[in-house]
This record gives sequence, structure tokens and C-alpha cells, in this order.
Amino acid sequence: PGPVLQVSKLEVTYYTDLGRAKALDDVSFTLEAGQKLGMVGESGSGKSTLALAMMRMIKPPGRIEGGQVFVGDTELMSLSEDGMRRARLNKVAYIPQGAMNSLNPVIRIGAQMVDAIKAHMPQESRKAINDRCVHALRSVDLDPGVFHMYAHELSGGMKQRVCIAIGILLEPQVIIADEPTSALDVVTQRQVMETIDRVQDQINAAVILIGHDMGLMAQFVDKVAVMYAGRLVEVSSVREMFTDPKHPYARALISSLPNLDNKGVFRGIPGLAPSLLQLPGGCAFHPRCPYAMPACTSDRPEVLTLEHGRRVACHLFDAEAPHGQPA
Ligand code: SF4
Ligand code: MG
Repeated sequence: PGPVLQVSKLEVTYYTDLGRAKALDDVSFTLEAGQKLGMVGESGSGKSTLALAMMRMIKPPGRIEGGQVFVGDTELMSLSEDGMRRARLNKVAYIPQGAMNSLNPVIRIGAQMVDAIKAHMPQESRKAINDRCVHALRSVDLDPGVFHMYAHELSGGMKQRVCIAIGILLEPQVIIADEPTSALDVVTQRQVMETIDRVQDQINAAVILIGHDMGLMAQFVDKVAVMYAGRLVEVSSVREMFTDPKHPYARALISSLPNLDNKGVFRGIPGLAPSLLQLPGGCAFHPRCPYAMPACTSDRPEVLTLEHGRRVACHLFDAEAPHGQPA
């Protein structure tokens, strides 16, 4: 069985008064059923843009300018608007950042869940739809009584679980969760991650977790993808990413994580994230890169495939790629 998700050469550009900003540049990756990918990078690096592009929810002045997204045999970018509406929730579910704060305060949780799926199941009886909602609530370890409650009666962790329950109502093949644990306390963060883990097992979905917290993510994902200035600069297994990060930006991210040596203080990465309106030429990371060489200011590094299928876009590895070819 091949990958359930195949993203290839996805491109998004924003046309602003100040100029063109390439928010996603040639982004490609694959994910298998049951796999979890952690997507990390500074804010503005394109993580949320990637999620929105996959859902075809980029709004003007942004535009998807190319690329394909296969979920199973279905190519999302070439679906009609109506086809895409049906694919959302059904094939690929998206839990946006802050979803739990956008639950409607005056509509009961159950009614919001029913609303989310009604259009997808016009033939289904009200009873069958209600049963499906209650089943989803149970899957995320919530009492079925939550169906009749209002958002303000729930804790942050419970609200986030409601959002996950909505995401799995139609058992999608792919689930994208943007910062699902932000604004939650440490204990609740773990619980939410464990909930995502469990529902993923139940429906064997591929999951993309977007987040800042590399440490938390490391305990739950299989692969880590690092974004920088709209590009995927490294994709590696979580173990390889943490023990032997290849891309200099990934190395900086890993070494800035709190550990025993630096007494748990997050040091951050020196230098500022570049403006997408004025990206440095060549490798966008070169002004901050301790390994930068002349080629880095002029030539854009291609994404290379290294051993174990690791993918890295950096001139340091040009000669190391097995076939010396861009993947
Ligand atoms: Fe650093 Fe050059 Fe690699 Fe970019 S291509 S990360 S500047 S070594
Ligand atoms: Mg974001």
C-alpha cells in the first residue's frame, strides 16, 4: 500500500500591495496511513499556509499556484468546489489553530456536531447522525452527555477534544491539526496528544501535527518536517531528526531545545526570520547559517534524498545524495 497522502510541488503566493510573497515554495512530502508527521518552524514559515492550501482554504490575496495533493486516489486541487466541500471532513479533516475557541457559545455541542456532518449525509436519519456524534465523543473519551452541553461548560482540554471529535466524525484518511495543544496546560497537552493518538489508531488516519513544541511532538510523531521561509528544508524520522539533524536550521532548532546543559532555557535561533516579501537569494537561511558558503547566496538548494529516505535542501549535502539527483 502506497502513501495515503501525497503532496507534490505545492506553491502559494500572496499578492500584496508591497509585492509578491511566496508563502509556499515547491513543498512535497508523503505520509502513510497510521503515520504522524510533526510540522515545525518559526511563525511565518508556512506551516499554517500549508494546511490551508491542502484544504483549498487560501483566501485572496493568496493564491494556490501549482501542485497536487492526493488523498488516496483523489487529487484535491482538481476537484470542483463542490467536490472539495465534500472532501473536507470526509477525506481530510482540518482542526484550525484556536478551533476550541471558535465553538459557538450559544449552540449546544451536539447541534454543532450534527451541523458539521448534515450536508455530508443527506440520506442519513437524524438518529443515525446523533449516534455517530455520540460515538465520536466517546472515541475522544468524553461523556456522551457533552452532546447536550454548551462550550462554556467545558474545560479547554474538553473543548479541544470536541474539536477532535468533530474532525473524526466521517473517519477521514488524513487529519491536520494546527497547534492543537497551544494555550493548554502541560498535563492537558499530553492528554490531547494521547487522544489524537488513540483516534488515529481507531480510524488508521495519517495525521499532520503543526506545532512549535518540538519536545512534546517528539514523543508522539513518527516523522518531523521542518519549514523555513515557505520551504520544507528537512524531513526525517523523529529519531534521526533528534540524534542527527542534517539541515543547519534543523540543527539550530534541536540544539536550542531546553535540556540539562542549558537548564531548560529555550535559547531561540540567532537572527530574524526573513520577510517573505524580501527573501534572501539562494538559500533563504544563508544570512543566519553558520555553514554558509559562496554557493548559498546564489543557488537555491534543491531537495535531496539522503539515506533512509531523509530529505534535505542544503548545499552541504549536494554530493552526498545517493544518486546526486534532486528528488
Ligand atoms: Fe546553510 Fe548553505 Fe545549507 Fe543554506 S544551503 S542551510 S546557507 S549551508
Ligand atoms: Mg500558524
